[in-house]
Amino acid sequence: MTTSQPARPPWLVQRVAPGSFEKVSGLLGGLGLHTVCQSAHCPNIGECFGHGTATFLVLGSVCTRRCRFCAVPKGEPVPLDPGEPARVAQAAAALGLRHAVVTSVTRDDLPDGGAAHFAAVIAAIRAACGASVEVLTPDFGGSEASLETVLAARPEVFNHNLETVPRLYPSVRPGADYRRSLGLLAAAARRPVLVKSGLMLGLGEQEDEVRAVLADLAAAGVRALTLGQYLRPSDSHLPVVEYIHPDAFRRYEETARSLGFDHIAAGPLVRSSYHAAAFVNGPENV
Ligand code: SF4
Ligand code: SF4
Repeated sequence: MTTSQPARPPWLVQRVAPGSFEKVSGLLGGLGLHTVCQSAHCPNIGECFGHGTATFLVLGSVCTRRCRFCAVPKGEPVPLDPGEPARVAQAAAALGLRHAVVTSVTRDDLPDGGAAHFAAVIAAIRAACGASVEVLTPDFGGSEASLETVLAARPEVFNHNLETVPRLYPSVRPGADYRRSLGLLAAAARRPVLVKSGLMLGLGEQEDEVRAVLADLAAAGVRALTLGQYLRPSDSHLPVVEYIHPDAFRRYEETARSLGFDHIAAGPLVRSSYHAAAFVNGPENV
């Protein structure tokens, strides 16, 4: 399917940090690990790998959901790999990470949605190095028991993305539910953990809809926010409806600040895990 797209604007220039791209990709490949950087075709991979950072993708590389913006492979899930937590920890230590970000595919086939595996990854990283840990989790079907399992491992940051405005959920995130995701974030925010969420813009949402979502997040107790531009991974994914101007991102950032968010990253190339360490360890730690 090919759908016409607005012309790509000049502000979407991707940065590449010279240096350790091969080292990072070789290390991860050698350990049989996946990253969302590669699986989701992240535009920042040259910069992040060049700086020696990556976001681990655990619970396998195949997702049981079919979000129409996402390049992660979909289909029959693979059995859990019990050695994965130790290998993630080994990679985090080898990369010298001060902040490790761990995300996953959605595993609707597992009774706990993979929560115990997340907890094992957090514990393994803790044992291997002194990195703070951020988990970017699926919705666990709204299960507070799964949330509790993850939070009991005491990650520094709990992140779950709303991704888009509620009106667009059926076309963008079939299988997800806006209120269920918001409820998971609110439940996490009742615990002593920094709670983070994010949206992709440019899928046809209106400004007032985005502002309403930001208000919902603030009311739920979310304190860290990322806003970025949706980029179409291939012709078979949802088309970009609009390239959001950097000035509009700045206006959203002002709105978020007025709503009480403490940590905000908003801009065309911002992704959920982009410069994530700065949210925890300060802006000099990107
Ligand atoms: Fe990976 Fe996140 Fe960087 Fe993208 S922004 S390359 S997903 S660490
Ligand atoms: Fe991609 Fe996550 Fe949706 Fe799976 S649940 S298709 S990994 S965005």
